[in-house]
This record gives sequence, structure tokens and C-alpha cells, in this order.
Amino acid sequence: MTDDVRSAVLAVYAAADAAVRAAGPRCDASGRCCRFTEYGHTLFISAFEAELLLDGAPAYPLPVSRDGCPFQIGGLCTARDARPLGCRIYFCDPAYQDRMATITEDAVAELKRIADAHGTGWHYAPLHHFLNARPEQPLADSMIPTRTPLPVV
Ligand code: SF4
Repeated sequence: MTDDVRSAVLAVYAAADAAVRAAGPRCDASGRCCRFTEYGHTLFISAFEAELLLDGAPAYPLPVSRDGCPFQIGGLCTARDARPLGCRIYFCDPAYQDRMATITEDAVAELKRIADAHGTGWHYAPLHHFLNARPEQPLADSMIPTRTPLPVV
């Protein structure tokens, strides 16, 4: 991502944050919104958001399922500064749902304009798609086979 694109995307984050602050949705801090399957929704993000998230987030175990976000630990977001738009905009407050939709539409439209202006292409997919695609991410300590076969001695 070029510096120009990064600045433009961060400006979209700042505008979305300001719009959410102005709307003042209620948050019960249940953490359910980051447990996607349990909550019944999917977090879609763009390649721009994925890159910023992966730059700023801690290491995480692979593979990542579609069920929840690996950055939610102990009910808290451990990638808060780098979190994507959906995390910034989404609140379950019923009184905020209409405003949430317009803030989301405006922000995603702005990201698409950035993609068009910089000729980056547009890639939009569920969070786990991008997290599992990260090639340099170390594998978790688990029974999952390593990507590179271990030498036979
Ligand atoms: S990045 Fe943070 S806010 Fe977003 S889904 Fe993950 S834990 Fe939740």
C-alpha cells in the first residue's frame, strides 16, 4: 500500500469514527459482535483494511475460522487501533441501525473511490479469508501440519 492510499484509507476511518461518535450508539460491551457465528453475522473487509489490520495486529493462531475474530481476547479487542471499518461502525444498539447503514455505505463507497483512483482493484471478503492468506503468519502450536515439511533426520 502506498503512503497516499494509506493516508486516504485512514481518513475514511477517521470520518467513520467521527460519524459514529456523533451518532453515539450504546455499547453493552458484551463482545458478542466479534463472535460472528454465535452472533449471526459476518465481518467483511476490503484488502485495504486487511493490510492495515495485519500491520497493526498481534500474531494469531492459524487457521482462523469464520466463527470469530482471533484478536478478541478476554472479551477485549487486541487490535483496536488497527481494527477495520466494520468494527468501528458496528454496534447492536437498535436505535442506531439506520445510521449505521448509511455510515457503512458512505465509508465503503469512499474506499471504492480510493481503489478506483489508485487503480488497486477491489477485493472484499470475510475477515478469515485475509487472515488465513497471510503467508508469513507463524502457525499456532497445534496439530496443524506446518507449511514446509520438517526435515527427516
Ligand atoms: S478486530 Fe477487534 S473489534 Fe474487530 S472483530 Fe476483531 S476483536 Fe472485534
